[in-house]
Amino acid sequence: MSSALLGDDADLLLRGGRIHTFDATDSVATAIAVRDGMIVATDAAAEALPAREIVQLDGRTAIPGLNDAHLHAAWLGARWPHLFFSDTPPEEQPTGRLVTTAGERRSALRRAWALLAELGITSYTEPGIGPGEDDGETGCFGTDMLESYVELHREGAQTSRVTLLRLFGTIDGESSLKDFAAGLPVPPPTTDPRWLAIPGVKIFADGIPPMATAWTSDPYPDGTTGHLLTRGDADPLSAFQQMIALAAGRGLQIAVHATGDRSIEEFLTALERAGETPPPPAPHHVVHGDLATPAQIRRAERLGVGFAVQPLIAAHTHSWAAVQLGEARVAAAWPLAEMLSSGALTTLTSDAPIATPDWRPSLDASLALLAADGRADDAATRRRLLRTMTADAAIQDGAATWKGTLELGRVADITVLDEDPCTPGRPFAALQVERTIVDGRTVFARG
Ligand SMILES: [Zn+2]
Repeated sequence: MSSALLGDDADLLLRGGRIHTFDATDSVATAIAVRDGMIVATDAAAEALPAREIVQLDGRTAIPGLNDAHLHAAWLGARWPHLFFSDTPPEEQPTGRLVTTAGERRSALRRAWALLAELGITSYTEPGIGPGEDDGETGCFGTDMLESYVELHREGAQTSRVTLLRLFGTIDGESSLKDFAAGLPVPPPTTDPRWLAIPGVKIFADGIPPMATAWTSDPYPDGTTGHLLTRGDADPLSAFQQMIALAAGRGLQIAVHATGDRSIEEFLTALERAGETPPPPAPHHVVHGDLATPAQIRRAERLGVGFAVQPLIAAHTHSWAAVQLGEARVAAAWPLAEMLSSGALTTLTSDAPIATPDWRPSLDASLALLAADGRADDAATRRRLLRTMTADAAIQDGAATWKGTLELGRVADITVLDEDPCTPGRPFAALQVERTIVDGRTVFARG
């Protein structure tokens, strides 16, 4: 079906290939026209508009720009090319202070943005920046970094749209109720939410299964069960519950790092106990969710809580986690098939620089996890995986009305690939990113 918004010309026309819109019916368009950064016409109506720039797809495939819903861009840019899961040997991994000056912070962000543009990533969530990290080891997560973000944002330097979550504790560490309660009322800087949205907070509930620090019901081989990282005058659980209640009461989006079934359970319970609160600007979500049980996935669905998961970390840490969890529990860890077949919002993310920000091996790792659950590599499965990084990630951003699909009135954030990613049987890793368009502007084109 061809349709158009008002207006009689276009800045940009994409034509001559397959365009997966990822709209509600997964329709495929043959052309789209863009004006002022917005999609204004599709198919024949798009072709009919005189356009200042024409991108001939020549049989290539366009999809909505990819959105990595959990990626530490400042840290990634500061560490690049060194990832935690990579060929870099431990003695060559960067340690200590990575960025000190404003120039270094800006360079780190710009480096990350250039890298993401090359990968076809047009949006991401920066999960956790704030005052608790002002004296942090790396310099990547403190208030200074937030200032660098805002500066570059106001200069119009971004080539990715960013959702930033504030952190009132330490990254991968403890947080105190006192600091959290003191930080929350401080208003975030004023920004254009289409480029730099700051809708909520990140809270670290626990650690990770391979380190025996995920908070679990069943003990690890040494008899421990992990524990909560939140601190207060009373016990860690009541500090955690009060943090959730405070943030929910302010109408903020809440993302909780929770890998163990106990911490996931208590997050959901704390949200229920928070009672009547203003609707959050974007869905609350569990980050990682490694040991989520089927009952918890159904409960999250009922509560409108999502999961931001990392299949590539699962692949990297599987045998390591098996030592702590045993083969039976590790077989039930990373329940991606269960999440995707539920109605709970699920996004596939990299957690870069832990794993590579390259979404292609991440989607191949997702196919492998699904295959272990008997799900076939077919076009429907591939579309489902790509939706988690486009339309569904936009839902997590609270931005589904204006980004994440290639429909009329949505922003023109578009990734062009050499071949159709929905064709089964071929690894995602074999795809080439040919062009990345953000807000109607090409931010990367292969040479
Ligand atoms: Zn993370």
